[in-house]
This record gives sequence, structure tokens and C-alpha cells, in this order.
Amino acid sequence: MKIIFHIDMNSYFAACEQQANPHLRGRPMGVCEHLGGIIIAPSVEAKRRGIKTGTPVWEARKLCPEIILLRVDPAKVRTVTERLYKIFSEYSYLVERYSIDEAFLDLTHLLHSTPRDPFDITQGHLERKSKGEGEKGLVWDNAILLALEIKHRIWKEVGEWFTCSIGIAPNKLLAKIASDMDKPDGLKVIRPSDIPNLYSTLALTDIPGIANRMAARLAELKIYTLRDLSQYPESLLHFKFGIVGVWLKSLGNLQSIGSIVTPEEEVIKSMGHSYTMPRATSDERVMKKLLFKLSEKVAVRLRRRNMWGSVVSMYARFPPNSSPLQGGVRGGVGKGKKSFGNGVSHKIGELTNDGRIIFKHAWKLFLLSKQTNYGSSPLVRMMGVTVSSLVENLRDEPLFAQYLKPQWALSAMDKINEKHGDFTLRRAAILDARTLAGDTVGFGRMKEMKI
Ligand SMILES: [Mg+2]
Repeated sequence: MKIIFHIDMNSYFAACEQQANPHLRGRPMGVCEHLGGIIIAPSVEAKRRGIKTGTPVWEARKLCPEIILLRVDPAKVRTVTERLYKIFSEYSYLVERYSIDEAFLDLTHLLHSTPRDPFDITQGHLERKSKGEGEKGLVWDNAILLALEIKHRIWKEVGEWFTCSIGIAPNKLLAKIASDMDKPDGLKVIRPSDIPNLYSTLALTDIPGIANRMAARLAELKIYTLRDLSQYPESLLHFKFGIVGVWLKSLGNLQSIGSIVTPEEEVIKSMGHSYTMPRATSDERVMKKLLFKLSEKVAVRLRRRNMWGSVVSMYARFPPNSSPLQGGVRGGVGKGKKSFGNGVSHKIGELTNDGRIIFKHAWKLFLLSKQTNYGSSPLVRMMGVTVSSLVENLRDEPLFAQYLKPQWALSAMDKINEKHGDFTLRRAAILDARTLAGDTVGFGRMKEMKI
């Protein structure tokens, strides 16, 4: 049986700020991407005043006039994250970076091993006795001790203002459910013997991956509870939802599909960047620059991973006051009455990781989408570029030698930017686009939910 930890940092972005600046401690504060937007991370004190992740800044100010608002500081957050992962990696070689502030650790080897086991690299931190078959309870008790030790090390080595919720269970899904049960500074174990009980205590929406919208769709099938879902025939779920149905069934059985995905194993299917502007614009030069910069950001990340892609997708969102001529183009995502979005993809017929080429195609797609849907000069609030159909390590493929030729200039640029900071050396087209789509860290999932 596996022993999985899910570690979820509490009020993470806000805690990073409060750790760095003691004057902010104990005061309601929030971190936002820009001041016209939403709070992406309220501090514990702000949460107590009713401010949640996603609360608009104007509403937060109404709820709590003395709230201190700061812009997210990506460099600070990433530095802390690296220190956390350094600790995690001392306990297991199976660590999954689930999001900027959440990780899964597989501690099966450590907790089932004798102290001489080569995987037991934490010898000396805590005395753990060897466990026989008849001592299963001890494994879970030791897991709790280990969780307390990790919490203590975060407090001591990363900062006293950081707390986390740790969920311990036999699989990833249950570990995540466990950490959600006890926040903040929580520690919760779901032992195999606890699982039957969960069917009477958990609501469908307590399951990560089932939000209100999915719950409503399930209700149409008369699936109201976790038990209903576990008893529903898989074939019918598959018929109704496709492959998602199979996944739903596994959620109903409280089983995880995936095991821990280490960064080395992670299969990257696409790479993208998007940016929501503080204000909508109809200025085509601004849109052009933004799209170019996003394309360059995608390209840099592709090159870092030694990857090339052959499909470019563009996404644009228009605020409610721009009126669409029609429903949306193929692949479009409708946002109801609030705002209109359009996504279009195009197979470009070559492999690329060059920002200029990605931009060329993305801009064409934008013009096409605009023409088809919005007429002459619509307002645009958000834009995104994604490159997919990725391949790796072309260097080993003589057939693709043509794609390697222009690389020297780009890799020289990458080297300079790595040393002196992103976009120190940049193309003339985005020379003055420094403030557009600045550095940021996502607070959502780093990849598709697969637990
Ligand atoms: Mg968190």
C-alpha cells in the first residue's frame, strides 16, 4: 500500500509577503496581479474578514477598508518554493510539483523501509522503527510524526510565518481530500479503514475535480451523492461524458488514476501564456505587442525544454460591451453574457520554437477571429498564445536539421537573458513592451488535473 502526502501551503502568496516584511504580519492583506483586478491570495487575517481568493479589489476594500494590497512578486514566491522543494526532496525522490504551493510526496519507501534502506535519506532526523506486516498502524503513526517533522522544518528553515496543511492517505486523491479537511495548519490522515466512512461524510463537491457545474450535470443523471456516483455504471458515465466519465468513476471509487509525476516524467502536451490587461483596449498596436511578447515567452520556455511545436493557438477575450457578430468560431469558448472569448488553432506546417514565427501565426489567427466575430475595432481584455503538438530533442533527428539552423542567435539571446533577467535582450518589436504581461506566477494548477 502506498503512503502519499499532499502538502498545501496556507495563504501562500500572502505568507511570502508577511514572512519578508514583519510589519505586514497579523494585518489583513492581499496579493493581486494588478490593482484593478482580483485578490489572488488573501492573508489569513483578510480571510477572516470575508475576503476570498477571487474577490475583486473594490469589493475587498468595501469589506475591509484598511486592507493592504500588494502586487505579486514572482521572484520572491519562486525562491520560497525552491526552498520548500529542497526540504521535500530530502524525504522522497518521488515529489510532484502539483502547483506553486502544493506538492505530492510518495513516502511509501521511507515509511516501509528499515533504517538501512538506501531510500531512507532522513536517518537521524527522526527515529523510525522497522515495521512488520502486523504493524500497519505504526506506519500511519510514523507518517504523522514525519508530517510534523516536515512542518517543523518549514517553520525553522523557510520561515516562521509559513504554515501548511498536510493530508496523508493511500492515494493522491484521498491525500488531497485529507489536506482540504483541515485548514489552516492542518494534519489529517485517511487510513484505508476510514474510507467507507467517507461515503457518508463527503459531498460530491468535496471531491477535487467536481465543482458545482459538474455536480449539476451529475444531478441530471440522478447522481447526488458520492455513493450514487460509485454505484453508477461506468459504461453509462462513459457514454455521457466520454473519457471524463472513466475519470469520474474513479473519483466515485475514491481511487486516483495517476501516480506521482516527477518533473522528469511529466509529459508536456502544450505550452502557453496569457495575460489579462488592467483595462480593455482597442489599440491594435498594444494587442500586437502583447501577443508578440506572449509568443516570445512561450518560445523561451520551449527552448529551455529543448522542444518544438507545430500547432499555434490564439485566445482572445472581449469585454461585455463589444458585441459579437455571431456565436464564436470553431473551438471558441463562450462566456455567457459576461464576456466573449474566442480560441482558434492552426497547424503551421513546420516545427518551431521561435517567438517571431509563433507570433506571425498567432496574429493571423487573431485578425481572422476578429473579422469573423467582432467587426472592425473591438475592445480586447485578455490574450493568450499556446503552442502544442510538441516534439523533443530534434538534435537527434537528422531529418529535422533545417529547424536547428537559426538557433544560434536565439540561444545567444537566451543565454544573455538567463544571466541578466528575462527580456533584457529583446526584439525591437517589443522594445517598449516591458510593462505588458510582466513576470507572474500562476496560482492555479501547473498542469491538467490528473490525480
Ligand atoms: Mg494553498
